[in-house]
Amino acid sequence: MWKGVIREYPEFYQFKNPDHVVTLLEGNTPLIPAPRLAAKINPKLTMYVKYEGLNPTSSFKDRGMTLAVSRAVEAGSRAVICASTGNTSAAAAAYAARAGIKAFVVIPEGKIALGKLAQAMIHGSVVIQIKGNFDEALKLVRKISESHPITLVNSLNPHRIDGQRSAAFEICDVLGGAPEYHALPVGNAGNITAYWAGYKTYKDAGKINALPKMIGFQAEGAAPIVRGHVIENPETVATAIRIGNPASWKPAEAARDESGGLIDMVSDDEILAAYQMLASTEGIFCEPASAASIAGVIKKNKQGYFEKGGRVVCTLTGHGLKDPDTAIKVSTGPMATCEPVTCEPELEKVLNVLGI
Ligand SMILES: *Cc1c(COP(=O)(O)O)cnc(C)c1O
Repeated sequence: MWKGVIREYPEFYQFKNPDHVVTLLEGNTPLIPAPRLAAKINPKLTMYVKYEGLNPTSSFKDRGMTLAVSRAVEAGSRAVICASTGNTSAAAAAYAARAGIKAFVVIPEGKIALGKLAQAMIHGSVVIQIKGNFDEALKLVRKISESHPITLVNSLNPHRIDGQRSAAFEICDVLGGAPEYHALPVGNAGNITAYWAGYKTYKDAGKINALPKMIGFQAEGAAPIVRGHVIENPETVATAIRIGNPASWKPAEAARDESGGLIDMVSDDEILAAYQMLASTEGIFCEPASAASIAGVIKKNKQGYFEKGGRVVCTLTGHGLKDPDTAIKVSTGPMATCEPVTCEPELEKVLNVLGI
């Protein structure tokens, strides 16, 4: 049985007292080949998606949260706090419940996808909505954690990045090496930092010979790294990456530069088109922010970036069910592929609607 990332990778995650490990058996998410998507984008590419939506709270945040909460428990902490665009709060709430400690979450009012808010609430965390954005929420929780005995579990907490490295380990274990390219969305920029650290850890340990190029994608309305300055009022449909001043800005640039990769941006339309394309061609439902990785690969391919082909892994950071509102909006809007039709329960009428 899979034992969760801490116990599966003991050479990289050591605990003196095994009772301190707080796990929901996260990790071991499937690396799904995406041949139909690759055929549409560029047949020379071998594409895979790392479907992080299949973690216990349906996003990759669980990988960092198992470490952050376990280390908090190890240090005797009885409470955790985070700012969140939604998924960090869902994971913090769940792992705190699992540990029997308290969780406080501060979120931007009205900008949290419905599923994520539901998660934070059902796990019994204290939820505070501020009339402000994520960056302001993060400033607040940093201050609170500095002056109170409450552990900050945003990705400023190094254990978050430490745990998130495990996704890179898993990919290398499955592929027998690193892919040529690794694409992922960039918000607070912790995950691109963590994957790069994970690949380097594996190379240093002699488990792989080569490293991938890290290619990260921000949303156009929330692209501080691409534009080179803080964005005061970030806006994007991809709420999980609606961040104007990423905490891991510098390490993300280092991951980009050391790997010979890039960080670029994609528009909301490109994100939603990729979101729908993935769902309809491969049967995989991710949340809008996750689709920034696919949208980015499509954009760079059009610019000739993948001329030589190769293996591309796209991280799908969260599950599509987190944000049902966007799925329904996209499916009934101008890009609609299928709109539910209401009709009488009569065979003739139903066949007529089905067009068969
Ligand atoms: C947190 C999150 C991101 C952004 O990851 P960072 O580490 O903040 O760059 C992207 N997608 C989803 C679904 C997330 O939950």
